[in-house]
Amino acid sequence: MKLNAKLIITILFLYVVAQFLWWEVLMVRQLNEIMQEKQKILALTISDPQVLEPQLLQLESSRLKRTYMIVGEGTIFLLLLLFGVRQVYQANKKENDLLRQKNNFLLSVTHELKTPLATMKLQIQTLQKHHLTQEKKQELLSSALQENNRLNSLIDNILLAALLQKQDFALSTEKLNPAELIKLVANTHFKTMLDDARVRLFLDEEIYCNIDRMAFQSVLINLMDNAIKYSAEYISIQVRLFKKEGKAIIQVADEGIGIADEEKQKVFEQFYRSGNEDTRKSKGAGLGLYIVKYIVEKHRGTISVFNNAPRGTVFQVALDCLA
Ligand code: ADP
Repeated sequence: MKLNAKLIITILFLYVVAQFLWWEVLMVRQLNEIMQEKQKILALTISDPQVLEPQLLQLESSRLKRTYMIVGEGTIFLLLLLFGVRQVYQANKKENDLLRQKNNFLLSVTHELKTPLATMKLQIQTLQKHHLTQEKKQELLSSALQENNRLNSLIDNILLAALLQKQDFALSTEKLNPAELIKLVANTHFKTMLDDARVRLFLDEEIYCNIDRMAFQSVLINLMDNAIKYSAEYISIQVRLFKKEGKAIIQVADEGIGIADEEKQKVFEQFYRSGNEDTRKSKGAGLGLYIVKYIVEKHRGTISVFNNAPRGTVFQVALDCLA
């Protein structure tokens, strides 16, 4: 809600409340006046105090009853009004939050799409125009490839998020060995880090689950990508797969910047990114964890997040596939 609109609504609301309170005061005053008149008439028409006394008492009790009725009805009306205003305000706030997140999303996505494209263009132009050593050429090519991968994962996430919004999105599951899938993802997407042990795998090879290969790859890529992205300079990622209490547990643990307790649930919301657009260093569109949660829950699994020791974050997926 714009500031002006907010101000007008607040003034209007205060005006209605004030009007209403004033109406109540007037009603009670009017009632009192009528009752006083009635008392006077009674006093004039009945001279016997024995008869007059009970009549006056009855009049007083009827005055009290009517006063309570006016105040009671007024209070209920006011409470209903307050409740209605609160509902409208909350609905409006929710809509505004979503709109702001969507705007942020558009801003960051546009930026995210343009940056790797511009970098790749520059790298190709450099390769075209200059005579470079073989080593330099390799360096440029692998960096261009990295940018290309980044662009690819972002587009994958946008397409997948759009697909998940459709009502008829269904998994296509098959019996798989999650250890194999984790190794495949690590070797395809995080090869260099796997080779120099910045990414380490601790996998129980004896687990089999009914999972959707493509969708689950996306879960793993997003969790591992985030673990690296939010690790600052020091990268040490562990991916674990083990059995616990009849469930298959997958953990992706990092020693990175961590997530504040009050944000731990929010990070799964669509478009949610911590910090603000201007100060944030990391790249992303706020879709990764939304997709991860959706896919895990579609597999009837659960996802949780907790602090790693001594620092960093652990994302844990629990699947019911051992039964
Ligand atoms: P994106 O990474 O594109 O912002 P995600 O949905 O993957 O979107 O993550 C949402 C937010 O959760 C991120 O902006 C980041 O603040 C936080 N986050 C996710 N993973 C981690 C992590 N491993 N460590 C710290 N913060 C994280």
